[in-house]
Amino acid sequence: MMVHNHEVVIIGAGLAGTRAALEAAKVADVAVLSKIFPSRSHSGAAQGGMAAALGNLDDDNWEYHMFDTVKGSDYLGDQDAAEILAKEAPEVIYEMEHMGAPFSRTPEGKIAQRKFGGHTLNFGEKPALRACYSADYTGHILLHTLFEQCIKQGVRFYSEYQVVHLIVKDDICRGVVAWDIRNGGLQVFRAKAVMFASGGYGRAYRITTNAHANTGDGLDLALRAGLPLEDMEFVQFHPTGIYRNGILMTEGARGEGAYLLNKDGERFMKRYAPTLMELAPRDLTARAIQTEINEGRGCQTPEQKAQGIPGDFVDLDLSHVSEAKLRAVLPQIFDLARNFAGVNVAKEPTPIQPTAHYSMGGLPVNVDGQFIRDAKNTPVRGLYAAGECACVSVHGANRLGCNSTQDATLNGRRTGRTIARDVPHLSWEDVPAEDVKAAEKDLDWYYQANGSENVADLRTRLQDTMMVNCGIYRNEKDLKTQLGIIKELQGRGKKIGVKDKSKCFNSEVMEAMELGHLLNFSEVIVIGAIERQESRGAHARTDFPTRDDAKWLKHTLAYQEPDGRIRLDYKPVTITRFQPKERKY
Ligand SMILES: Cc1cc2nc3c(=O)[nH]c(=O)nc-3n(C[C@H](O)[C@H](O)[C@H](O)COP(=O)(O)OP(=O)(O)OC[C@H]3O[C@@H](n4cnc5c(N)ncnc54)[C@H](O)[C@@H]3O)c2cc1C
Repeated sequence: MMVHNHEVVIIGAGLAGTRAALEAAKVADVAVLSKIFPSRSHSGAAQGGMAAALGNLDDDNWEYHMFDTVKGSDYLGDQDAAEILAKEAPEVIYEMEHMGAPFSRTPEGKIAQRKFGGHTLNFGEKPALRACYSADYTGHILLHTLFEQCIKQGVRFYSEYQVVHLIVKDDICRGVVAWDIRNGGLQVFRAKAVMFASGGYGRAYRITTNAHANTGDGLDLALRAGLPLEDMEFVQFHPTGIYRNGILMTEGARGEGAYLLNKDGERFMKRYAPTLMELAPRDLTARAIQTEINEGRGCQTPEQKAQGIPGDFVDLDLSHVSEAKLRAVLPQIFDLARNFAGVNVAKEPTPIQPTAHYSMGGLPVNVDGQFIRDAKNTPVRGLYAAGECACVSVHGANRLGCNSTQDATLNGRRTGRTIARDVPHLSWEDVPAEDVKAAEKDLDWYYQANGSENVADLRTRLQDTMMVNCGIYRNEKDLKTQLGIIKELQGRGKKIGVKDKSKCFNSEVMEAMELGHLLNFSEVIVIGAIERQESRGAHARTDFPTRDDAKWLKHTLAYQEPDGRIRLDYKPVTITRFQPKERKY
């Protein structure tokens, strides 16, 4: 098997991976592996903005940003991490600007900023103008800027390489095994430092904003290597996905003044968040929409009306905002609403429903990006993570909009610096033959699979049932049903058939592997959700409707035992400035 040696191997070429690569490449030989072309990474889909208390248009400061992030997290976020995010964010923005990112501007030429959910001035008084943006293509411009800088810096990209195995032995990470998607076959990437920047997992749900590639591979690779996942029960639903397909209508739309209306034309958010209205945090807003729908106040399609069926969406209305302004600051949502909902946003409302969007949980890391293997915060030598796949934990139980592009870029930068610091002290370790054999055996299994089960059927069943049983509102009965379904699907997953035996671009094998990942980490989401008997942030239990700080102000750590069983452990939340309070908006 071909063996590559790179001092640093980064899995993922989104904002986190490319930003880290730029730092690490200052001192080391860096390779970035990506299963899709780098600039196709999901970061490029980010629309609305990137948070930083620049105060270009109001009296913003980092303490307000930190407070909002902590309160938004329902006090589960680690406050040392939130403080770093809020303090370093302005520098990260200016650095992106100096690298060439074309941000939208104020008339006097400063970086323009807009409102976003849960971001306030003076500790909750009124909405802050904090999201820096480039129209509604913010992720696209950030990702292209970083990719170009990486090329300039000599970072080596392995495009269309899917990492299939993480090599950890004696608590030391030694590299990865990757599948060359274009030509077939496995290759070993030996490294002194390995970093996960492999993104989120929205594809475990039927209605999602996430790209097809977002299948949480990194999470499962770590789990299979005996490493823990943190706070996986917290899954963010974005309030405004286009009805029936989940494609995102950015929160920037509400930042620019959009209303949420029920079937009576009522701005119902006044009953849920009287101060912030449509700019309340996502967990609260998504629940408000779902409650309107559940209680019969959802909007109806003409067919639903004719048949007397209750409506299952609400309206996002921008028709009171001037068309010239909309075309200038939200051009993409014009196209999305027209193409996917047949709507002209300047004239009529867009039907929307909550859509699976972001994973608050993930690979446990400390504030320097080192992978943590237990509740005592013991780092794994040579292993790091940042971005959506990681759990620092900045976002706790609920992430605020525009904090993720900032988290990925800022913690990507921090992690890259940690790697640059550590690499001179790390050594080349042997790659155990058993790891290589295990990866080969796995791949062979997929090529030889000739059972009767169909990958797409199993995936659809998982996605549909995760929506219903482990979505916005949860309860013990549904979650236990879902655990049973996942077990059944895991069993059926052992009997799949793969017809395509070709080496080149075998998307059938790829999807089969991704299904394995989806099924494995979804079990962790559901078990964490069953155990957490409280409601906090995005985890809303109808059978335990209140937050329970006495029992549950702690992070979940989940391990997969060698026999496949999931074992849970817990670790304390870091609280520095802000004691947990009741959350009102
Ligand atoms: C539609 C949409 C809009 C958003 N808008 C905003 C916004 O306006 N503001 C905001 O702050 N946040 C936004 N977010 C969230 C934010 O964009 C993401 O959380 C963030 O960009 C993730 O960056 P990342 O670098 O961690 O991962 P990603 O950009 O998702 O990159 C993941 C990388 O990992 C690679 N990868 C994965 N698995 C493997 C494997 N097995 N082998 C090799 N490579 C692998 C992929 O190829 C990819 O390069 C949005 C998200 C979505 C879906």
